[in-house]
Amino acid sequence: MVTPSHATRSTSAHTPSIRSLAVFCGSRVGNNPAYTEAGRALGAGLAVAGIRLVYGGGRIGIMGVIADAVLQAGGTVLGVIPDFLKQWEVEHQGVQKMIVTDSMHERKTRLYEESDAFLTMPGGLGTFDETFEIITWRQLRLHDKPILLCNVEGWADPLIAMLENAIGDGFAAASARALVEVLDDVPAVMERLASLPRVQNGSAARL
Ligand code: AMP
Repeated sequence: MVTPSHATRSTSAHTPSIRSLAVFCGSRVGNNPAYTEAGRALGAGLAVAGIRLVYGGGRIGIMGVIADAVLQAGGTVLGVIPDFLKQWEVEHQGVQKMIVTDSMHERKTRLYEESDAFLTMPGGLGTFDETFEIITWRQLRLHDKPILLCNVEGWADPLIAMLENAIGDGFAAASARALVEVLDDVPAVMERLASLPRVQNGSAARL
């Protein structure tokens, strides 16, 4: 786990910046209104920054909150939803583009291919799965796209503790801390997105 100050990479005026961000987050809104507020702030921030939202395509939960906020602020949204989840997660009808996949695995591949970086916002089991998967893909050097985690009011403390414990127990290298950047709130995420370089490694062939 690294803080932004440790993780800052040198960028030049010619380095392309993040254009598309995949967001992993809950299909429920959770019990703390701060999660919804953070989702709204993120959506508005992405629209203003001209960064396309790439997400799971649902209209419910924090997913729906973020997508609605991007659209309301005039931004662009790409949804990627498996056919079998269109009803369950209530497919968003207002996004500019929706990709319908045959499986969850194809959804994850498309989310990966369409994004320059990844951000985890508050969520549940599916969010944990997606977050750890993108971290482990980076650990395996299958990609080097930035991974951010927005720890809104400490919701991700147990997730971060699992990673720290894995290192402490000798199940992960100390360098695993650098695979994901933890940021405390949405303004910190937006600031970091503005300085992140875009990595040219979009191939999903080995995922
Ligand atoms: P959740 O955090 O459980 O509300 O789920 C957030 C998103 O993750 C939703 O779009 C789910 O479809 C997705 N999801 C749920 N379970 C899984 C899983 N096992 N693997 C990948 N994605 C999942």
